[in-house]
Amino acid sequence: MERQWGVYIHIPFCRQKCFYCDFPSVAGRERYESGYIDALCREITVQGALYRGKWGTPATIYMGGGTPSVLPFQLMETLLKTLQEVFALPTASGERQKKPVEFTVECNPGTIDLAYLTLLHDLGVNRLSFGVQTFDDALLKRIGRIHTGAQAREAMELARAAGFRNVSMDLIYGLPGETQAMLVHDLETMVSLQPEHISIYGLQLEEGTAFARMQEMGKLSLPDDDTVEAMYDAMTSFLPQHGYARYEISNFAKPGYESRHNLSYWRDVPYLGIGAAAHSYLEGQRYENVREIPAYIEGIRSGSGVRRQEEAMTREIAMEEFAFLALRTARGIDRRHFEQRFGVPLDAIYADAIAKLKRQGLLAEDAAGVRLTELGMKYGNVAFEEFLL
Ligand code: SF4
Repeated sequence: MERQWGVYIHIPFCRQKCFYCDFPSVAGRERYESGYIDALCREITVQGALYRGKWGTPATIYMGGGTPSVLPFQLMETLLKTLQEVFALPTASGERQKKPVEFTVECNPGTIDLAYLTLLHDLGVNRLSFGVQTFDDALLKRIGRIHTGAQAREAMELARAAGFRNVSMDLIYGLPGETQAMLVHDLETMVSLQPEHISIYGLQLEEGTAFARMQEMGKLSLPDDDTVEAMYDAMTSFLPQHGYARYEISNFAKPGYESRHNLSYWRDVPYLGIGAAAHSYLEGQRYENVREIPAYIEGIRSGSGVRRQEEAMTREIAMEEFAFLALRTARGIDRRHFEQRFGVPLDAIYADAIAKLKRQGLLAEDAAGVRLTELGMKYGNVAFEEFLL
């Protein structure tokens, strides 16, 4: 039976660990790269083929990390060819697809050149996502990034030269020592490059990161709350004025360039995660692959398996997750979709929460469903709390 589903592939390697990052990624483990790609290809060949047999070609493939673009050319080529074969993806020069697959690869602007991007393009990748974070060289250094602002600008030129017509860039605001004027300068630079899609996040201090340790020692100087709020307001007004519609709390796109892969996460679409620490959502349950790279490689080699089911999802947890994820999007919770999924009307579960948030001006409602207002997006956590059962 053909159905919509996605594939996520995790590449856990980075050149250097950024000071704010708590993603499952490591630096200095190049010795595992070859064994890791071998294991990935085996997992794709077995699991990818299994789900392709069940559900047909995936609608989206997303290679993230980590930094996929640190993989050496040959290993990336091997990986892409395996994906092409297992999922029957056409090459850039091949025939038109009946059902186009959105295939994204995350890249660090400091790790790519034209030959590398051309390889990606020629082997079926049709969307790039660049981790830019800021164009300010001093800030980039202060947050542990390996690239410069000039490399980030050049990355866009290289992407266009390689043939990419769908490029996303990420920014982070609220960085140590950042002012509102610096953020506005970043936003202006970014829109001048004309990416089709922009993701923008406020800096979060995550446990176990270098920044969290610096904060404990009193060595991190972050913008105060008022400045961060002013930055948020600047970003949410600037991007729509420049042709980027906000379609999710942290994501903006030109018309027709919303990330289909991310939208599917927020719309309860199943996905298969491949690689160490990759998450899957299959048949209503969540799974996580083993996190350590050697354990992952060994698990695939020996055939002992790498995927473990996370705590079984109760119906209540499934409802909460459904609500949180849908509320992140501009479309919000679709009443019909909720009822189809859970067999009860949305109001039977959430009438009180909806009424309260509407009174507070955080939620808007129409016949199709409920969605966060501008204010609700700004104070998302307050709204999400009301949807806890
Ligand atoms: S490049 Fe990305 S995944 Fe790697 S350490 Fe930096 S933020 Fe984390």
